[in-house]
Amino acid sequence: MEEQCFYCQGLLENVYYYGQIIQQGDHIEKPLCKECYHEWLEGMKG
Ligand SMILES: [Zn+2]
Repeated sequence: MEEQCFYCQGLLENVYYYGQIIQQGDHIEKPLCKECYHEWLEGMKG
């Protein structure tokens, strides 16, 4: 089963990461590619 990156919609084949997205007060886990995961981390820190 293929996953899609939540941010860039890229297909994730082997390696991907889960980021917790806060959406309307709920924490939802979304699959992220490596690049978007790092951007997400930076966004969470800032
Ligand atoms: Zn991505």
